Amino acid sequence: MENKVSIYNTLTRKVEQFIPNEEGKVAMYTCGPTVYHFAHIGNLRSYIMEDLLEKTLRYMGYSVKRVMNITDVGHLSSDADTGEDKMLKGAKREHKSVMEIAKYYTDAFFVDCGDLNIKTPDVVEPATNCIAEFIRMIESLMEKGFAYESGGNIYFDTSKLREYYVLSNHSEEELLVGVRDDVDEDENKRNKTDFVLWFTKSKFEDQELKWESPWGLGYPGWHIECSCISMKHLGEYMDIHCGGVDNIFPHHTNEIAQSEAYLGHKWCNYWFHVHHLNDKAGKMSKSKGEFLTVSLLKSKGYDPRVYRLFCLQSHYRKPLEFSFDALDNAGAAYDKLVKRIGSLERGTADEVDQEKFAAYKARFGEALCDDLNSSMALTVVYDMLKEDMTDATKYALAEDFDRVLSLDLTTAYADREAKETVDADLERYILEKIQERKAAKKEKNFAKADEIRAQLLERGIILEDTREGVKWKRA
Ligand code: AMP
Ligand code: ZN
Repeated sequence: MENKVSIYNTLTRKVEQFIPNEEGKVAMYTCGPTVYHFAHIGNLRSYIMEDLLEKTLRYMGYSVKRVMNITDVGHLSSDADTGEDKMLKGAKREHKSVMEIAKYYTDAFFVDCGDLNIKTPDVVEPATNCIAEFIRMIESLMEKGFAYESGGNIYFDTSKLREYYVLSNHSEEELLVGVRDDVDEDENKRNKTDFVLWFTKSKFEDQELKWESPWGLGYPGWHIECSCISMKHLGEYMDIHCGGVDNIFPHHTNEIAQSEAYLGHKWCNYWFHVHHLNDKAGKMSKSKGEFLTVSLLKSKGYDPRVYRLFCLQSHYRKPLEFSFDALDNAGAAYDKLVKRIGSLERGTADEVDQEKFAAYKARFGEALCDDLNSSMALTVVYDMLKEDMTDATKYALAEDFDRVLSLDLTTAYADREAKETVDADLERYILEKIQERKAAKKEKNFAKADEIRAQLLERGIILEDTREGVKWKRA
């Protein structure tokens, strides 16, 4: 492996050469979505950049095993163990059961990922699948003296650790800000930083999902699931753990505390954190402002791949401000780029200039290995398109780079053209049918008119009789 990947490690606060535990193999874990609502495009920025990391590692020759959890239990509306359960909140909002909500939004999450060309991790495990494992880990933490029971809940005792804030420089004051929504301080805790491993005494008596445990009927805290699910699939040593910056504290800090207390040794060497997508008002969230989702972008006519390009244009370690103007610029850049690549003659393998191919591939790899410099990697794409070399070389490079960029560089233009032809043909057909139906109605042949409506419905088209005439829309 010639090119070495360097990455910023939150644990050491510097850009470091990435060296996995086992040569050539990477054990990677990603905190998955809390499936109580659609993911907003801020959440998806994190997943796009984590996808870029995984694909860069693969591009550089590593074999990667990536695991992701689905949080379908235990995530309270404040990260600090307080507030209402997010899943329950979603279920109440939509008058559905928690499991129905979880299924619906898990599926929606993967549809969004598909639209954004985000690869599904090798293992995806919902938290509710692993309750027995959580209980075993908590029991072991109790035996080792790292956990205690108080007021019906099981807490992790952070005072038993030599160091708790390994990931962040939190001071007591900062911590107070971090848990500000902790309106009523939990009296059961021995130390302010202790956190819940298992709840049996919920403030919310109507908690829907509960399981038997040695401490009574209850449900797990949020942090335990990621420690447990990652160890279940990746073993005791992990190479790289990912998430958005808001996960650094308390979630990842607590994951490290309980995992290393349980294992008795260092657990994960590299911590990768993606900075936030903001809008003008600040951090994007599901509760304030316009709730920006991939479906919303699509309904406004944006190709989701344009949002992927928008994210790749910026470094993952810088906050990114979203605006529709900025997205329009990315859209124009995307259209031009795929059109330019779409006009290349693919040629044959022996028309590829191997020397130039290797030189550009090396530059592209170097940009990514430099702490995932995705905007530099995009510059390499533009540079190679300007270079004096055969179309076949350019095409081969675009295809190769797309293994990481996943923008459908070589296929998007042709696909779009084909879709436009289909759309134009369909529209002609619909207009003909509307005319035929109008004539049938005039002749009072209502059976025929209904038949035409049914034929259109079969092709996913709904007709509406309005005062302005007949209109159509997709079902
Ligand atoms: P959640 O579904 O709330 O558990 O969040 C899913 C992922 O999105 C986590 O990795 C968060 O750290 C990340 N995240 C949350 N808000 C943002 C944001 N505004 N920009 C980027 N990532 C975010
Ligand atoms: Zn997690």
